[in-house]
Formats: sequence, C-alpha cells, structure tokens
Amino acid sequence: MENCVFCKIIAGIIPSPRLYEDDKIIVIRDIEPKAKLHYLCIPKTHFASFSEMDGEKAEIIKHCFEKIPALAGELGLQDGYRVIINQGENGGQTVPHMHIHLLGGEVLGDF
Ligand SMILES: [Zn+2]
Repeated sequence: MENCVFCKIIAGIIPSPRLYEDDKIIVIRDIEPKAKLHYLCIPKTHFASFSEMDGEKAEIIKHCFEKIPALAGELGLQDGYRVIINQGENGGQTVPHMHIHLLGGEVLGDF
C-alpha cells in the first residue's frame, strides 16, 4: 500500500531495525513504547485490520502466534508479556495495517 507506514518499513523505504524477519512477518520496536519493552509483530502482507480476517490472513496471524512465543526469550520477554491487537478507531488502532503489540519488560498494570 502506497501510503502505509508499515509497508514502507517492510519495503525498507523507512528504516527500522528488524529484531526478527522471515518471509511472512517482521518484528520491530514500537517508536512510542507504552512499556519498558514494546514490540510490533507486523505481517508483510498488507491488510488494514483484524476485522478483515479470512482464511489466508488467519494463516499469517497463526504464523505470528507461533513465532511470538519462540522469540519471547530473545526479545527479553521471558518473564511474561501482553499481546494486544487494536481493532479500529475505538480499539485505539493508529496504523491501518494489521499488527500485534507485544508489551513487557516490567510488571504491567491493568489497562
Ligand atoms: Zn501496509
């Protein structure tokens, strides 16, 4: 997508160090961290939001959910973390490219 910031990061147009990358996803740090450690797991395939889920996109999300626990230790999340998907305006989604937030590195409060 032409004007999508995450697509630009995936394409290398906007530089952002990748903590993990494979053919389907990248993991980067959130530039506005809401916890001591705050990462984004971003599918390389552009789709705007969780509400667009279908079988093909669900396979990508499944891949994310397989990789996240495998990467947790090297991301410093071995003591626990929170997984968040913000859906739409009321859900606090700010970038219209589906992504998964990983927060940790400290004891997280309720929010
Ligand atoms: Zn995108």
